[in-house]
Amino acid sequence: MVQRRRSILVIEDEEPIAEAVAARLRSEGFDVTVAADGAGGLALADRLRPDLVVLDLMLPGIDGLEVCRRLQRDQPVPVLMLTARDSETDLLVGLAVGADDYLTKPFSPRELVARIRTILRRVDRASEQTQRPLRLGEVEADPATRRVCRAGHTVHLTPTEFDLLYVLGSRPGTVFTRERLLAEVWGYRDGSGARTVDSHIRALRNKLGAGLIRTVHGVGYAAERPPGTRDEEPG
Ligand code: CA
Repeated sequence: MVQRRRSILVIEDEEPIAEAVAARLRSEGFDVTVAADGAGGLALADRLRPDLVVLDLMLPGIDGLEVCRRLQRDQPVPVLMLTARDSETDLLVGLAVGADDYLTKPFSPRELVARIRTILRRVDRASEQTQRPLRLGEVEADPATRRVCRAGHTVHLTPTEFDLLYVLGSRPGTVFTRERLLAEVWGYRDGSGARTVDSHIRALRNKLGAGLIRTVHGVGYAAERPPGTRDEEPG
């Protein structure tokens, strides 16, 4: 498969950071566009349909949280959020705004590139695989179109939320540890992003109902097998 050039939109008001990030990403072969505020970033995202957005949390005008919400509402796109402090990352994780990953400043350009490549690889893998539609109670998810319905109504999930739902929902009743979910959904090989898993689970529950995913204390998560259903007959 021929790899087309990937486009990344950087929304960051601190010019030195924006410039450094853009330069590094360009040197890695990405097409990079920079916006210095939220409104400009949203307009560019709408026009350019980037493959990924690097989004600063603290922006003048519309802040990063709101930008992220609007991006996910209008046209789901992977988002890597930049925060100034660890406490902000905690806050973001708690709010489950739909960012795929978070980096705390100062970060190394190398780490930034690694995170971006991981996110893009995951999105590619998900779109290449031909998988069958999923049904969990009143929730239906179609991996071909990445559309999700709950009781017949469309629900908007971020790319990461969709992947997480699909991994859990493909094997209802199976308990997945956070580490395994990080490996299967995020592509991480260590458990450093466990909070990220919790945040995305919370988002899925908010959107699809609290009963869909069960917490197995001290272990991880499992999709609930809808009551009254059995394992599918083979064939
Ligand atoms: Ca800023």
